[in-house]
Parts: sequence; structure tokens; C-alpha cells
Amino acid sequence: MTDQHPIDESLVEQLAAPLGERLAALHDRIAAAGGDNVQLLPVSKAHPVEAVVAGQRHGLATFGENYAQELAAKHSTLGEDAPGFHFIGQLQRNKVRQIATAVTVWQSVDRIRVADEIAKRAPGAHAFAQVNLAEDPAKAGCNFEDLPELVDHMQSIGLQVDGLMGVGTAADDAATAAGFRRLRAQADSMGLADCSMGMTADLELAIKEGSTMVRIGTALFGARQ
Ligand SMILES: *Cc1c(COP(=O)(O)O)cnc(C)c1O
Repeated sequence: MTDQHPIDESLVEQLAAPLGERLAALHDRIAAAGGDNVQLLPVSKAHPVEAVVAGQRHGLATFGENYAQELAAKHSTLGEDAPGFHFIGQLQRNKVRQIATAVTVWQSVDRIRVADEIAKRAPGAHAFAQVNLAEDPAKAGCNFEDLPELVDHMQSIGLQVDGLMGVGTAADDAATAAGFRRLRAQADSMGLADCSMGMTADLELAIKEGSTMVRIGTALFGARQ
């Protein structure tokens, strides 16, 4: 509760106008890429809670956040008016409890221990398994090899596995497209409907490869501080 502070209404108004313009442009961009049925997840990380409120005024109902502390603070500030939050950041097992009641979808589940903690703190929660598309040990996500075991486990402990999540390789379209294609094929082979893939820089590639959800920060809220 120490994070609680009132909403700065003038900041909400200041953010709402450019956000409306960017949202319209983004919808055009998604439609032009053939993504009429693709869900938009606005990513509000590193932007103030007022950006979330401005988004809600434009009809956005669910937001992506990367950091447990920041998500918990926004949720607590907004109280009953809090939107749904998707957790999309690197997930530490000891942070799950802090955000268990605030998160509606856990998109970045990449290991069994974290899945177990989510099932304990938020039984039956909706989740995605995050895959390390670049197979780079420095990056988050489960390897393709270990994915069937992770997804089986998540389902066996009662999590609702909606699909798979992945992050493209910065400044490498060929690698990004290959990773997205592999993620889509893997989801299909496991009978999972959703693929959360595509960000500001690579949403067209992601939609082309079968994304059902793009996670967009910069194109909506501007550059992060
Ligand atoms: C920050 C982030 C996004 C949004 O990125 P933009 O390039 O600002 O659109 C999407 N997904 C994840 C996992 C992120 O960390």
C-alpha cells in the first residue's frame, strides 16, 4: 500500500490525446498487415499509471507489464478500477505471490518451478509458455526441446495454457521470422491456439507468421524513460 498515490488527472489528459492518435495509427498498421483478428496487448511498462488510465479511456482493458513491483504498484493504485494485467517479464519464483491476485494471464512461464508457484498462488490461472526463440542462453524462455515437458506439466497442475509466447531477435528479420514460424508450428502441434509474438518493431513479421496477439509498447505510449 505504500505505493498508493492519487491519479494525476492533468497527466491523464495530457497523455490521452497522443495515445488516441497512436492507437488509431496502430490499428491501421495491424489491419494493413492482415491482422484484423489479432489481439492487441498494450505494454505499459516504464510508463506511469496515468498512461494505463489514459488507455482505459480509449477502451483498452488489458495491459502488459514486465516488473512485479511496478505491476503491483499500478494495481494497488487503481484498486477496483484496475485493468487486467498480463505479466510478460522475466519471472522470479519469489515474486509470484506479490502479484498473484493482480495478474490475469502469465505469459512468461519458462520453467517448472515457476509454473508450480503460479499454480499454488493462482490456481487454474491462464498462462503461456515462453520460448527462447533465439536459443540464446542469455535470454529468457524455455528451449524448444524442453517445451513439451513444460507445457504438459503446466496442464497437469491445472494451469490453462492458452498458447506460446516468444520475443524476436532485434535487428535480424530473418532470424525473427524463422523463430516466429517455429513457434507457430510448435503451438499448432501441441493443439494450442494462441501465439503471443510481435512487438513495435516486428509486428508485421509476427502477423505474417501467425501471431494471435501482439504486445505493443513504444508505438502506443512512446519511448520509455
Ligand atoms: C517491452 C516489451 C514489449 C513491448 O515492446 P515495444 O518494442 O516497446 O513494443 C513486448 N514484449 C515484451 C516481452 C517486452 O519486454
